[in-house]
Amino acid sequence: MNDAQQDNRKTGRSRVTRWVIWIVALLLVNIVFTYFLARNEGGYKEISWHRFKDNMLRARDVDRIEVLNKEKVLVYIKFDSLKKKEYSDLGSLTKKAAGEPQYYFTIGSVDAFEKNMADVFTGDNEKYEPPITYISKSNSWQTVSSWLLPLGLLLLFWFWVSGRGSALGSGAAAIDFSKSHAEEYGESKTSPFTFKDVAGYEEAKTEVMEIVSFLKQPGNFTKLGAKIPKGVLLVGPPGTGKTLLAKAVAGEAAVPFFSLSGSEFIELFVGVGASRVRDLFDRAKAKAPSIIFIDEIDTIGRVRGKAVSIQVNDERESTLNQLLSEMDGFDPNTGVIVMAATNRADILDAALLRAGRFDRHIYLELPNKEERNAIFKVHLKPLILANDVDSMFLAAQTPGFSGADIANVCNEAALMAARQKKEAVEKKDFFDAIDRVVAGLEKKTKIITPAEKKRIAFHEGGHAVVSWKLKHVDPLVKVSIIPRGKSLGGAWYLPEERQIITRDQFLDQLCAALAGRAAEEVVFNEISSGALDDLEKATKQAYSMVMKLGLSDKLGNISYYDSTGTYESSFQKPYSEATAQLIDTEAQKLVQDAYTRAKGILTENRDQLDAVADKLLSKEIIYKEDLEQILGIREGTESLQQVAGKTGA
Ligand code: ADP
Ligand code: MG
Ligand code: ZN
Repeated sequence: MNDAQQDNRKTGRSRVTRWVIWIVALLLVNIVFTYFLARNEGGYKEISWHRFKDNMLRARDVDRIEVLNKEKVLVYIKFDSLKKKEYSDLGSLTKKAAGEPQYYFTIGSVDAFEKNMADVFTGDNEKYEPPITYISKSNSWQTVSSWLLPLGLLLLFWFWVSGRGSALGSGAAAIDFSKSHAEEYGESKTSPFTFKDVAGYEEAKTEVMEIVSFLKQPGNFTKLGAKIPKGVLLVGPPGTGKTLLAKAVAGEAAVPFFSLSGSEFIELFVGVGASRVRDLFDRAKAKAPSIIFIDEIDTIGRVRGKAVSIQVNDERESTLNQLLSEMDGFDPNTGVIVMAATNRADILDAALLRAGRFDRHIYLELPNKEERNAIFKVHLKPLILANDVDSMFLAAQTPGFSGADIANVCNEAALMAARQKKEAVEKKDFFDAIDRVVAGLEKKTKIITPAEKKRIAFHEGGHAVVSWKLKHVDPLVKVSIIPRGKSLGGAWYLPEERQIITRDQFLDQLCAALAGRAAEEVVFNEISSGALDDLEKATKQAYSMVMKLGLSDKLGNISYYDSTGTYESSFQKPYSEATAQLIDTEAQKLVQDAYTRAKGILTENRDQLDAVADKLLSKEIIYKEDLEQILGIREGTESLQQVAGKTGA
């Protein structure tokens, strides 16, 4: 913004401020008037019902009464009586006799008032009751103000909402909704993050840095006729550091960096989103070379026109359209690059992803062991650690954790150590923190009956024994019957990080998942509700084996998986009714076979199951070593240390 523009905006703003002050002042005057007029109508005095009843009515001084608007009683005193000492509070006599009421009091309801009046004289011989008239009169000020108030408020609201070019001339509004609130990093404010804060992701960093170098030395690229990319999309599951990486780019790039979240475009007011996009690009172009970063772009970039159109969708659509046209609108070599981040690239509108827009995608996946190690190192640095803490060891315990999970574990561990007033954070604190992140808080207070406890012990024991006997199930680390979060117990495995799972591995996993319920049936001859999570997992896995992965006998090598997401929104299934039935029977068969197999293993090894359950009942948590004592060394595994993995239950 240059100086002239700035001045212009300022005068515009002060003009609007003046208007607002005027309106507020008018409203205030109005309210004050209304208040006083209502209080002090004609200057007569307010009295209590008791003074009226005892000193005026019973004294027979009342000439007549008027009930005004069913809420106020105006009292006219007889002219002769006004001389009495009782009425000396009224002041001079002439004023008193001006045909105006001298006193008033307020009543709750007319009915109650009439009843009270009648009660005053019950029992009196001589019937006396002053004449009562009912009148209704509206206060003109009150009427006017009841109009003015909403009108004024409306006007005020309108000034707030309307943007530039309102009826007030060239100025801006008191609060300009059409401006984007993008946070700007640049000369005045630098991002606190650099690439040092982002552990791992070397490829991603190199790629983003390359883009920054496009910006800084465009000549090197344009010389050969290449176009600088316009858009870069960071894609990855939540917590993998997309936002962090973008902020680090802001810190490293040393060019102005405009950062905002997709949801900030969408407001209550229609048309705001589009004008914010426009404003954002204007600002960025004025400062080129520069970077725009739109976080959570899926809030505006969803596939258009699929959902039933309601207002919000229209607004989002026009915002998206504006974004698309802005991205087309600038010449690739103006030096503005748009970065965006999302967890859900699959739901983004294809128009956003096409060449010339966000055509570069950088995938941030869940970190592998090495990367987790590096992330742990970053987050362990600020902590005071005991000697037994080793980042590589922690990385091994946390397969499937995202960067955010790891940051969380480190913080939880430090909190736990602090709570116990330790000098340093120990390995045990990290274990507890990992368990807590995986399964939730220990619920020591949850009330469990001994019978339930026994059932849980056999259920978990079933998982333990069966998974011990199956070759392809991940190594078991520990089994617990302490309730945690929503679950009543759990078995912890150390998942191997594999990219491909074979059919036999799937079948073994199914069998281990159903072993809890199988144990309940074998031991108690009765099954329970406690296997919900297991059944859900098994069912999902069976269906995905049949429908997606082509792993069933009858259906064969067919996959109804749809990576483009088109079927998801259509009501028609891509297969016939007969196939649907086949899918169901195949999935059921997989689950049924696995269950039978689990029951077989458990019946065969009933003594071992009993031993494991007994041990669980006495110790509540048992580790690999305890299991080895009962079940023998597991085939094909060297003795691992006690470790935990993210897939519990
Ligand atoms: P996303 O935007 O992908 O959902 P964030 O960027 O908000 O995730 O990451 C959340 C937090 O997780 C970060 O603030 C940081 O503490 C931690 N984190 C994630 N990835 C990393 C990483 N590679 N190195 C260091 N910390 C990370
Ligand atoms: Mg984020
Ligand atoms: Zn279970």
